[in-house]
Amino acid sequence: MYLYEIGEAPTIPDRCKTPKACPTVQNRVAFEQVNGVAIYNLRGAAVTVNNVEQGLKDALAGFVRDAQALVFGPSGLVLERLLWMGAYNCRCISGTDKLSGHAFGRAIDIGGWAFRGGTGPIQNVIYERLVKQGEWNPLFRVGACLHLNFQQVLFWVHNGHRDHFHAEIGRPAPKAYWRFIDMALGRALGELLVGLGWRRSEGAYAPPSSGSRALINARVAALQEFAKRLPSWAHDLFNKRFGRPLRQEAGDLSKLLLLTLARGGFQPAPQLAPNNAEPSPTISNRPAAPPLPPPVRPAASPPGPPILPSGKCPDSPFQWAQATLPKMLRWWNDQDLRRGKVAQVPVGSTLREMTPKVFPGAPAEAIAGFCANGAVTENTTECRPSALPGAACRSQKFHEIGLFGTEAGLRNGPAPNPNPDAEYNSWGKLASHPLVRQLLGGRSASMEHNRWKTQIPDQVAVGLVNIRRHGATVAANLDPSIRPNANTSSIFFVACCFMGWSAGDGRAAKRLNSFKDILARVPEEKRWSAFLRALAEGITVGRIDLRGLRKHQSVAYSALRTWQKLAAGQLLAGRTGGDVKWFDAGLGGDEASIAEIITCAGDMARRPARQVV
Ligand SMILES: [Zn+2]
Repeated sequence: MYLYEIGEAPTIPDRCKTPKACPTVQNRVAFEQVNGVAIYNLRGAAVTVNNVEQGLKDALAGFVRDAQALVFGPSGLVLERLLWMGAYNCRCISGTDKLSGHAFGRAIDIGGWAFRGGTGPIQNVIYERLVKQGEWNPLFRVGACLHLNFQQVLFWVHNGHRDHFHAEIGRPAPKAYWRFIDMALGRALGELLVGLGWRRSEGAYAPPSSGSRALINARVAALQEFAKRLPSWAHDLFNKRFGRPLRQEAGDLSKLLLLTLARGGFQPAPQLAPNNAEPSPTISNRPAAPPLPPPVRPAASPPGPPILPSGKCPDSPFQWAQATLPKMLRWWNDQDLRRGKVAQVPVGSTLREMTPKVFPGAPAEAIAGFCANGAVTENTTECRPSALPGAACRSQKFHEIGLFGTEAGLRNGPAPNPNPDAEYNSWGKLASHPLVRQLLGGRSASMEHNRWKTQIPDQVAVGLVNIRRHGATVAANLDPSIRPNANTSSIFFVACCFMGWSAGDGRAAKRLNSFKDILARVPEEKRWSAFLRALAEGITVGRIDLRGLRKHQSVAYSALRTWQKLAAGQLLAGRTGGDVKWFDAGLGGDEASIAEIITCAGDMARRPARQVV
């Protein structure tokens, strides 16, 4: 046995081809935690990292600080544990006869991480939840933090590193470093790189391989191009992190890229090809996106161009809201389009009159946002002449009528079905409800076939009572610790109404209950935003797996549909001078990134199931 550490019992020879001795570790330390983050193994047991250099501990502490500040903290997460997959080990690098950084006590293998309040044992996050699932964004962000603190970081593209980061001090590995930077640039700039002399290579981009001068030039040009596109806070971030201003050279520009990447401050460019050998982003994350636009008045002003960036996936809450704004503004002014002409239809005035009687404290604009999903004379079972053979209107099982899409019986019966107890017949059940009668000045809503098309008060009265009933059923099925007060019309209760209508009451309650531990910790008025935030985080770190789920099977889809309606109401309230504050989800600067995560995840549930290879 020829492999041993001087001063210690001989160790089992490992991976080396010729005899050698491992040197005594200099400045050796042992630790169980760094900066309050404990070290754990795969079985969930606490680990003492032994016989490593003080410098390794310092670098790990720097990594923990950066990851908390740049990656996790902005999403409200607190890093609590790191998954250790080995540190000191007297051995050679696999397939070589060269001592590994582990043999000097200068390397640590990190397999994952866990947050405060997380449940269950620490898991093999990097492989099981990220690499295997193609969740590249968190890997790039955490990888960037490691590169900011260690001289050598090996990651999932390197042999034997599919499931962990190898982080080492004292031995720079420029090839691995630049490979990471190149991949990040490819994600950020995409096809733009081709104009800078980069090649398309196996579904990714590579700088020129001929001549080191051309290689360096192409990288510097790409980094400068990237730096031009950075959010304004990126340079401050650099100053704060390194205590000096940025220099326009490759080393600093690459550090700037790492910092920005870690903070989630860029938007991945569209990828060029399917079957990417290199990772393609599935979710982008832009915490530093701009807040909602300031309110614009008066209501009569024409809709401007979209104000928020369009994002990567279609129908984000803000895009959806923008698209429906012209219709909502017409309604607000008691107008509607009939065959392209403006007609007087009392939508806005009826909403303003009735909403406070059903949802006291909630702005009527919120309800207009809900109605933006429908139309005054729409019945989801009636097709336009132009509808395609596979259109939903041809197979929709039951009538959903008018502004509120109120269920009105099976499609082959009249709308509404005259039998109040007929299936899917909320209209029939509620037409004579005491509150509906009160709203309609003592009369019941019309039960005559298609009469609702011209009876706006009937639509609004039945619709309001119906969605409130959905919300009350959702609330009754929620865990008592998160149950909203159905009499106060918080945004959380209104969201329960919207989600119950679209996802089904039982399903909506189930979705929200699965977040009860998080939601119970915040007051009711913050519960909707806490839900969105926790959902986005769960998706980002791979805790929530939505693959293969269709429509409302996916909590992201349900959340997105509800958020679209609330965002539409908020946008309208900004135009009408309404109570914008009621809508404020309290997501702050993270709103756009959370919206994008949920939009992209929700959008997946809209598409046909695809084989995941
Ligand atoms: Zn290693």
